[in-house]
Parts: sequence; structure tokens; C-alpha cells
Amino acid sequence: MAKNGIVIHYLRTAMEKEIVLSGIRPTGFLHLGNYFGAMRNYVRMQDEFNCYFFVANWHSLTTHPDTKTLQESVLRVVAENIACGLDPEKVSLYVQSDVPEIAELYLYLNMLAYKGELEKTTTFKDKVRMQPENVNAGLLTYPVLQAADILIHRAVKVPVGKDQEQNLEMARNFAERFNHRYGETFPLPYAFNYNSELVKIMGLDGNGKMSKSENQMTTLFLADEDELIRKKVMKAKTDQGPLTPNSVKPDYIQNLFTLMGLVSSADTVKKFEDDFNNSSDGNCIIRYGDMKKQLAEDMVQFINPIRNKAADLQNNKDLLLKIIHQGADKARTSASATLTTVRKAVGMEYL
Ligand code: AMP
Repeated sequence: MAKNGIVIHYLRTAMEKEIVLSGIRPTGFLHLGNYFGAMRNYVRMQDEFNCYFFVANWHSLTTHPDTKTLQESVLRVVAENIACGLDPEKVSLYVQSDVPEIAELYLYLNMLAYKGELEKTTTFKDKVRMQPENVNAGLLTYPVLQAADILIHRAVKVPVGKDQEQNLEMARNFAERFNHRYGETFPLPYAFNYNSELVKIMGLDGNGKMSKSENQMTTLFLADEDELIRKKVMKAKTDQGPLTPNSVKPDYIQNLFTLMGLVSSADTVKKFEDDFNNSSDGNCIIRYGDMKKQLAEDMVQFINPIRNKAADLQNNKDLLLKIIHQGADKARTSASATLTTVRKAVGMEYL
């Protein structure tokens, strides 16, 4: 192929790559659930797709955080994403509020979202339970802002954990309504995970998902020190062992095996699976203490390099700021192109 042909081929391939978008709220330290539900996929996707990843600082305002520490949290999330393997040269890594086009699209989509359906979303109901004194309109329209985040880049693949499945369905509904009312504008976005099942990482007590805000001792954070990781894992709930061979595992035991499957070698998992399956009342081969010790060490091996790299990056604020400026430039180019089409479709073009 002639040189020009190669360049054109390259450009066409880049343009034809499917568009990916996902975001993480800067509401606390990132944890293992964020890693396996979201960031692990981001890192794999950056080579295959045209990726936009952002820190959702507008979203975090729904819970009225201390905005003095918010900026530091935003930069920490950026650092942690890079420490997990995101390459800011390959993806657009930006902060939501640096792309004001999203807010305008949010406004148009709000006209297509109904109070009844918003009140029924699980994430809204959870938040109402957690902060009954602060049920603001931003909380109610959270799925609309999320749809705007996705549709502003015309993204089709959204790598998220299982907790976001319903919000993605709403984003598709809003996109379909927009297309129906104003003409074909948006492709429909879908939640994505490399394995067909979306992931949900449970807390170390097997009760509820790991989360930035709920029980800190049952969540493993990517910033946890080695000793704290050991302490948390060793405290995980177990019991006296199975009463019959090949028993069904209780949730909290299954959870330890799931976590082990994520960070330990296949041989290690097999050894403990075999010990579990060959155990019975009076002949308990599996030693949960040993299993937790092994899991703790493998967890330390996994988290320690991410923690150290993120800490180094956080000491280089200038670099982090340069990265998010560059990310915002790329994101605004894509966002303003979409908004031009949207304004035309809605009939908001007067200038
Ligand atoms: P959040 O922490 O709510 O901002 O979520 C950021 C991303 O992490 C979203 O894609 C979530 O679906 C994902 N996520 C959060 N917690 C978990 C969890 N415990 N298991 C799996 N994915 C999770």
C-alpha cells in the first residue's frame, strides 16, 4: 500500500473503533469492587476501542461532599486509574465538569425523563434510604446526567459493574425517546464486561457490595497499607467448615473463594477448593485460617504496587493536571460535535 493509503487506512480504523465511556465518582478511595467491576475492563479496552473515561465530580455533588477535599479526591481517582494501567495517551481521561457540553445535553434529556420512572430506580431508592434528609432533584435525575455522560460521545459500550445495569437501561430509553422525537441521533449504549456476566464484588462479610461509603473494614481499598489488608482479610467471616463433602458454600465462604479466584494462582484456588469439597463433619480438611492467610498475602501482592504507584503520581500534581487538561481537550472535541447535531435536531440553532 502507498504511504497515503496506509495513513488513510489508519485513520479509518481509528474512526471506526467503537466508542467506550465510563466514569467513577470521586466520593472516596477506590476499592477492589471498582477495580474488578470497572477499571480492569478499562485497561483491556484501551487498546481495542476509542475510550473516554472520566471522574464524575458533578455526580458526587448529589451527596453534598466537602468540596474543599473534592479536588484532591478527583486527582486521587485520576492517579489510581493510571496506577491500575490506564494510559492517558491512549484514552481521554478527563474530569466531568471540564466538559460543559454534558450539562446542555442533560437539559434536553431531562425533558424526556419522567418523575415516575426516576423514582423507581434502585440507586435512587438506595440513596433515599441512606440520606433521607437530602433527597434533591440532582439525586432524582442522576440517571439522566449519566445518560448525557454516555450519549455526549455517542458511546455504545459502557464498562460498569452490575449495580449500574438498570441505569444503562434508562440511558437506552432516553436515547430511543430522543431518536423517536427528534430523529435518529444516538446509537444505543450497553453495559459491558469481558466475561458475559457483570461483576459484583461483595464485602468481606459476604453481606452487601464493597463500597466507598459503607463498612470500611469489609472493603479492601487500593490505598490500604499491607498490614491493614491482612487485618481485614483475617477478620472475614468463616465457620467451623462443611458438614458433608461437596457442600454448597455459604455466601461468605463463596465470597472468599471468589476473591481468591481474582488474585491468587489457579493452583492455590484448586487446593482450597479440593480441601473444601473433601471436608465433612469430623473430617474437616479445609483450614479457613490458612486460606485467609494465603488470600491476605496474595491480596497484598496485588494491591501493593497499585498503591505505591498511585502515591507517587499524587506527589506529581503538575503531571496529573496536564493529563486532565489533555483529556478534556479530546473529550470536548467529541462532545461539541455531538452537541452541534443535537441542537440541530432539537431546533435550538439560531446563531
Ligand atoms: P462508584 O464507586 O459507584 O463510582 O462506581 C464506579 C464503578 O465501579 C462503576 O462501574 C460501578 O459499577 C463499579 N463498582 C462499584 N462497586 C462495585 C462492586 N462492589 N463490585 C463491582 N463493581 C463495582
